[in-house]
Amino acid sequence: MLGKILLGVAGIAGSAFLFFYANSFFPVEPKTFSVKKDILTGATFSVLAQEAGVATATRLALLEQTKPVYDLSQITAGKELEFVFDTGSGLLRELQYEINADERLTVQNTATTSQEQWEAARVSIEYTIEEATAVGTIESSLYETIVSQNLDERLALAMAEMFAWQIDFAAQIQKGDSFKVIYEKKYRDGTYSHPGKIIAAQFINNKEEFRGFYFTGEKTKEGYYDEQGNSLQKVFLKAPLQYKYISSGFSYNRFNPILKQITAHRGIDYAAAQGTPAVTVGDGTVVQAGWNGYYGISVKVRHNEMYSTVYGHFSSLARGIKVGAHVAQGQVVGYVGSTGLSTGPHLHYEMHKFGSLINPFNEKVPSTEPVDAGEHPAFDGIKNTLEKQLENI
Ligand SMILES: [Zn+2]
Repeated sequence: MLGKILLGVAGIAGSAFLFFYANSFFPVEPKTFSVKKDILTGATFSVLAQEAGVATATRLALLEQTKPVYDLSQITAGKELEFVFDTGSGLLRELQYEINADERLTVQNTATTSQEQWEAARVSIEYTIEEATAVGTIESSLYETIVSQNLDERLALAMAEMFAWQIDFAAQIQKGDSFKVIYEKKYRDGTYSHPGKIIAAQFINNKEEFRGFYFTGEKTKEGYYDEQGNSLQKVFLKAPLQYKYISSGFSYNRFNPILKQITAHRGIDYAAAQGTPAVTVGDGTVVQAGWNGYYGISVKVRHNEMYSTVYGHFSSLARGIKVGAHVAQGQVVGYVGSTGLSTGPHLHYEMHKFGSLINPFNEKVPSTEPVDAGEHPAFDGIKNTLEKQLENI
């Protein structure tokens, strides 16, 4: 490979690894060349580094010395690793990995001797921001309306998240509903990258109008507020019952005493006396009620487009709890028992976000506090300007 200049070519869909020879492009041979590896599902850092031509000792040193800054065993599929090699020696000089849209991992060999010394850093990715507006009338779904206008589909998701507590975007959207939105478009090196935050939006659902304005202050938490300065976000109860202690937390590997093997426990177990009433942590609709395999007698509540919660191992359901029933936050849905795969009375509680199980204790729920009273004049000023802007879109 030495003596040839290899240029990694990124972003070509479907190609795991593509490069071309460019001997004639440069009058002087560059000091480095890079190899880019797409991270496919199941791929590990070690395998990709090996394929890129990184020596075993170097791979191990990289993993070890980068760990305090970023654990390379956590790289995610769909992204890319870039290995930069010294053209002369063929040795690895640098590693680049985009952790998320805001941060990039850079690892460099800072050694002056032959003993490798890897120094890792998280570097923030710089974007230029442009303000943009969009309007639309729903034919079938918000997503389709956004995409049909060649707008970024992530804008639909951002709007659905913003109004998740006001509108159920999967169940309540009607033909003729409409929206107006002022939002940020983020550019990286002159090329559009992704939507930034929504600055203000209006959504008319079944003739009911909802508006939200982005605001943050010294005493007001960053978030979306309505015309009166109330948070668009509603809150879930911290726990669905009075419990004695948490007998098992959220984890990806715990020893299951019944199955006698290591399994993920992607929920919270609350130890409580048989018959203790358990309540729904938020308003919603019952989408499952009754016997459900390992869960025993269980209830699933859909709160909105984003969140659902599950309550398992009940001894019995509360009165009126059946599929389709509307439940209010704090309403009893069942009584603690030990039905299904269970060793003793406890409540198994799960939170699902967009269909995936999440740890409710780690979920960063935005503030539900209104705009701080002292900051209300500032909020009103911004809101009035944005309201005029919305009207003029
Ligand atoms: Zn459990």
